Amino acid sequence: MATDSVNLIDAYNMYSLFQFRVSVFTFHINSLKLVMFKGGGTIQMIIEPKIRSNVCFTAHPVGCERQVQQQINYVQAQGEIQGPKKVLVIGSSNGYGLAARIVSAFGSGAGTIGVAYERPGSGSKSGSAGWYNNAAFEKKAREDGLIAHSVNGDAFTDDIKTEVIDLIKQHMGRVDLVIYSIAAPRRIDPATGEIHSSVIKPIGDSYTARTVDFLSGRLYEIETEPALEEEVEDTVKVMGGEDWKLWIDALDNAGVLADGITTVAFSYIGPELTAPIYSQGTIGRAKEHLEATASTLQKQLSQKNGQALVSINKALVTRASAVIPAVPLYISLLYQVMKDKKLHEGCIQQMYRMFNDRLYSGQALELDDQGRIRLDDYEMRPDVQQEVDDLWHQVSEDNLESISDIKGFREEFLRHHGFGMPGVDYSAEVEV
Ligand code: NAD
Repeated sequence: MATDSVNLIDAYNMYSLFQFRVSVFTFHINSLKLVMFKGGGTIQMIIEPKIRSNVCFTAHPVGCERQVQQQINYVQAQGEIQGPKKVLVIGSSNGYGLAARIVSAFGSGAGTIGVAYERPGSGSKSGSAGWYNNAAFEKKAREDGLIAHSVNGDAFTDDIKTEVIDLIKQHMGRVDLVIYSIAAPRRIDPATGEIHSSVIKPIGDSYTARTVDFLSGRLYEIETEPALEEEVEDTVKVMGGEDWKLWIDALDNAGVLADGITTVAFSYIGPELTAPIYSQGTIGRAKEHLEATASTLQKQLSQKNGQALVSINKALVTRASAVIPAVPLYISLLYQVMKDKKLHEGCIQQMYRMFNDRLYSGQALELDDQGRIRLDDYEMRPDVQQEVDDLWHQVSEDNLESISDIKGFREEFLRHHGFGMPGVDYSAEVEV
């Protein structure tokens, strides 16, 4: 196995470059072919996946619409939820946030406002997957007669908070559920103007993470030095609970939180295998802050019969998780074991379960001894973890395809970007 001594956050930074539209971005997207302008300036092109270091730089609008429709179909095939009617989802265009928005709308008949930071198509570049997901969601929700508005911009800013509050006042009056599902590489503190970048690093000791390039199947190791104290603090600033609290304070002060308001943010714990780089690392420290924020918000919202909760979710393929070292290999093995045991869930199944079996079940809310919702219960079952651990110690480049679900990882990652969806003609030009 090769050992790559690379900066651990390289991949994460590539993801952030893509996400934040940095103008010096020079990566040549040679997969966008047959660019031509039609009347009115519309651009039509053939779009293919362009992936490097577990980051995909293109997305397919028709495929994204299909995968949003698939999630809607799943929810509509389940029972109706006696759940929220006016929902704000912060981080609504992908992964867990998108799934929570779909369950709110199509499972519970809720009007929704979504906030995301996505890139529209322009020139010869396709838009980001979240851009197309948002468009598809809005179209389908409105076809069903549901209120659906999306705000595209930096959720960490005061301006976006104000814009969202105005939209709530205009279309909903008050919201009864606020989902906070941001995964971001950096944040500008609105109070100081200072930029904070999150890093994925261990704390205390250096760590060698075993990971996989899921496209090529190359297994390799990434060595990383422990985070500096400043890097820990920066990661907490970005991925901790500070912005969640700023949102709830702003919404509360504006009088747009309904009596009985529920707010939920998401976290992950995971196994010993990934602990040095996740739960005991910089991200884990940020998640501790998120949980402490939930306690603070709980006290604040109890005055209006509300609640603030953290839900510990399952490890899943998303744009964010694909760039965390060790996590893609762990997920590939986990998927294999959970699919064999018929326990596998994706984002939409997890979110449906959170609404139907936990938040709006009509029963007393099931929480762990630290007051958290546990949707990672199947993942953390001792028999599941034991088998994943056994496979982790056996896996090599020779047996990766046979003992892990690397194929499933690859397919799901591609689907998140609208590729590999059945019934889509990928050789046809589409409008970006
Ligand atoms: P994702 O990358 O799929 O989605 C992140 C969302 O955040 C997108 O809608 C994106 O547009 C939005 N966003 C990012 N920066 C923003 C900004 N500045 N302003 C507005 N919107 C912004 O991420 P995900 O994997 O669904 O993660 C969501 C949450 O769930 C995170 O807190 C993550 O830690 C947690 N979680 C993820 C997993 C997993 O395995 N993926 C497991 C458990 C918990």
